[in-house]
Amino acid sequence: MEVQLAGLDAYIDDIWGKLPTDSVAFKREHINVLEDEFLEDIGKIFARNKVQDRLGLYVNHRHFELQSGERLVEYGAVQTPWQLHNAAADVKARVTPKTWAFFEDKLIPTEFKYATGVEAVQPIHVPAEFLNEFRAYIDAKNLTSRLGISTRSDDAWDPQSMFELTVGRVSIIVPNEQFPEHDVTHVGWFFDADGAKVARDCIRCFAHG
Ligand SMILES: [Zn+2]
Repeated sequence: MEVQLAGLDAYIDDIWGKLPTDSVAFKREHINVLEDEFLEDIGKIFARNKVQDRLGLYVNHRHFELQSGERLVEYGAVQTPWQLHNAAADVKARVTPKTWAFFEDKLIPTEFKYATGVEAVQPIHVPAEFLNEFRAYIDAKNLTSRLGISTRSDDAWDPQSMFELTVGRVSIIVPNEQFPEHDVTHVGWFFDADGAKVARDCIRCFAHG
């Protein structure tokens, strides 16, 4: 059975504040926030359910606060809070989920992107078995508050040479060459069809605060 991942209307203001702040989310380890053993196991779950071409693993975190009605929305290389309280329906229809985290029994979207293509606004469906297996694993390892999933996007940036830098309440994707390796943290992983091999070309993010 396939299930549809929740969209913008599943989000409520309270969810953002439940995400770990970056200083909490990244405190365990500087570069590798997750042990290899967990990555290998989770990669197998993605591959076994054949979702690795659509989804990746994501470390739940927030860099700043959002006000009531605001959602974190990415467009191009910029992620900012968008006040969507009174936004037009055709704008909201293009605000599609990019990451999800478990809150209680539900997988709720946490970050969004503004989609311009026709296909990009289509809901994402995944096997129910994948969600069950993934949830059971992270529950068993006490990782449920730390890990979520992300879309495997065709974003214009190459994670090997670019990373996310947060300044105030704006996150931008910038070339990483000006920053030493020790300043970045891996916050996401994609897997290949074997699952056993973890793609190390992860989403990077500037840990601060
Ligand atoms: Zn980040």
